This record gives sequence, structure tokens and C-alpha cells, in this order.
Amino acid sequence: MKALEDKILNEGVVKSGDVLKVDGFLNHQIDVAFLNEIGKEFYRLFKNNGITKVLTIEASGIGVAVMTAQYFDVKVVFAKKSKTINISDDVYHTHVYSYTHQINNEVMVSKHYLNQDDYVLIIDDFLANGEAVKGLIDIVQQSGAKVAGIGIVIEKGYQKGGQLLRKLGYHVESLAIIQQMNDVTGEITFKND
Ligand code: 5GP
Repeated sequence: MKALEDKILNEGVVKSGDVLKVDGFLNHQIDVAFLNEIGKEFYRLFKNNGITKVLTIEASGIGVAVMTAQYFDVKVVFAKKSKTINISDDVYHTHVYSYTHQINNEVMVSKHYLNQDDYVLIIDDFLANGEAVKGLIDIVQQSGAKVAGIGIVIEKGYQKGGQLLRKLGYHVESLAIIQQMNDVTGEITFKND
């Protein structure tokens, strides 16, 4: 998505530890009109997949998921994070290693909001090593629902998550794929450059 690549080039800041900061439109301040265009694009890419629910993980995935779900006219469920969780019979739970915080989070979704009839579109802001998406897939599998697609705003293509998920056969669509970024020069290149 050319407009997204341009926005990343104009506003993104490359930090050490392979972290791209896009706080100006995605991770702190939300550019609603722009995220709306992202939602539309995910709808275009997945509209024939029979989506009945959009699933994401708090916090940064929620804005994108909401803008996307309005086009499918379905509800959004977000997995809740906690360092510890009181495991009960009412929840699906798994753990996710956080790329940015470098800690393990327990994440959970109430059994009320996902069931075996659902066709789930998983949405997240970034794809790095795939830990967050793998956790969400685990939750979908526990519910008996199907993963109908995975939509990512920014994939760091040189990290292993994208390859891993595509090898497993999932339909992954990333709106921008970073080929390389340099925290010293600030340079960012995209896969289709
Ligand atoms: P993964 O689980 O694929 O290793 O990492 C993806 C998760 O970590 C995303 O949910 C996102 O919140 C965070 N993340 C990974 N890389 C970056 C990055 O470069 N910038 C930002 N802002 N978040 C990232």
C-alpha cells in the first residue's frame, strides 16, 4: 500500500533493537482517516473469505481491527494481556512473548466471543517473529473456529514471522513489508522497492 509506505518514510523513526516507531498515526496517536483506508484495504483483500469475526490483541491492534471490522459488519474481539491470569473454564488462554517489552504475557479471550462457527480474520499492527499471531492462532484453534486470514499493517520481512506463517499455509496479507531498516542512518527500504 503505497500511501502506507510513504507515511512510514515520512513519519517513522527507526529505534535500536529493530523497532520502528510509528507513534504519530498507529501506536500512540491514531490517524483515524488513515486507519480507515487501511480497514478498507483489508476488506478488499479478505472480502471473499467469509469473515464472521475480527480478532486482535490489545492494545495497538484494536484501532486497526475496529476500522477493518466495520467494513465486514462483524464484531471485534481483542485478546487481553496480563502477567498472570486466573485460569477459569470460561476463557481460552495462551502466552505470548512480547517483542517490544521482552516479557511473557498471558493472554485470554472469553469463550462467549469465539466459537466453532466463526471464520476469524486476525489483525495486528506489526509482524516480527510471529509470537503475537501464533498466540492468537492458538486461541482460535482452542475455540474450534477457523483462521480465515491474517492481516498485518507493517511486516518486518527480514524477521521470521511472515515466512513461518506462510509456510504453515495461512493467508497472510501485509500492507507494507520492510526489507531493511537502519537505526544509525534511519534508512528504510520496502520489499517491492
Ligand atoms: P511478534 O510477536 O511478531 O514478534 O511481534 C509483533 C508484536 O510486537 C506486535 O503486536 C507489536 O505490538 C510489537 N512489535 C514488533 N515489532 C515492532 C516494531 O518494530 N515497532 C512497534 N511499534 N511494535 C512492534
